Amino acid sequence: MNEGMLLILSAPSGCGKTTLLKRVMADLPGLVFSVSHTTRPPRPGEVNGRDYHFVERREFEAMRDRRPSGFLEWAEVHGNLYGTSREEVERLRAQGLDVVLDIDVQGAAQIRATWDPVTVFIAPPSLAELERRLRGRGTEAEETIALRLANGRREMETAGDYDYLVVNDVLDVAVDALRSIIVAERCRRRRMPSGEVVELEL
Ligand code: ADP
Ligand code: 5GP
Repeated sequence: MNEGMLLILSAPSGCGKTTLLKRVMADLPGLVFSVSHTTRPPRPGEVNGRDYHFVERREFEAMRDRRPSGFLEWAEVHGNLYGTSREEVERLRAQGLDVVLDIDVQGAAQIRATWDPVTVFIAPPSLAELERRLRGRGTEAEETIALRLANGRREMETAGDYDYLVVNDVLDVAVDALRSIIVAERCRRRRMPSGEVVELEL
């Protein structure tokens, strides 16, 4: 069995990445979400183990400092720590599943340095619309909104480092674009770098 691909999605907070991803995952079998660890408190409606593994800072640091580290990558984002579990990603990929990492631009740079991920940046149609969506979601305090918008502006400057750019303006169009990227990458990865076709297990 071939190992599944690593698909990284990054976007400024409030851009609609979670909404987009839920739609694409409902459509495409064989795609799984890697649940990150975070020290951020849960938002109303978020479930421990499904949206994140919500942990205390001390627990996060112990996992991070293990050798080899319990995290494939980790970063401080908007004042909280976030990390991708090495064990979870390895277990899922070994089953031939394509693993989606919803991580920030710092995490994407760390993974790009040592792995061979497919990377997608999701951008809002404008900064004004990003602010409208972030406020409209109603989950953040005013100072958190300002911090997330300022960080979002900086994150957008790194969009050129990604393999693909999807603008989430009309949701259906963005869903179609992301789904198409994944389907195309699956076909591409059935070839060796030499162009030789990898045998399919049908
Ligand atoms: P993220 O995961 O990127 O932080 P969310 O998926 O939580 O963002 O979306 C933020 C808000 O924007 C939500 O209220 C969501 O319903 C809304 N939203 C997402 N995509 C669109 C879109 N294409 N057009 C309008 N609103 C959207
Ligand atoms: P939120 O608090 O809105 O859920 O996420 C804030 C930011 O942290 C988003 O940009 C999200 O992609 C990023 N993030 C979530 N999990 C991880 C992770 O495991 N590693 C890194 N580097 N970033 C993460």
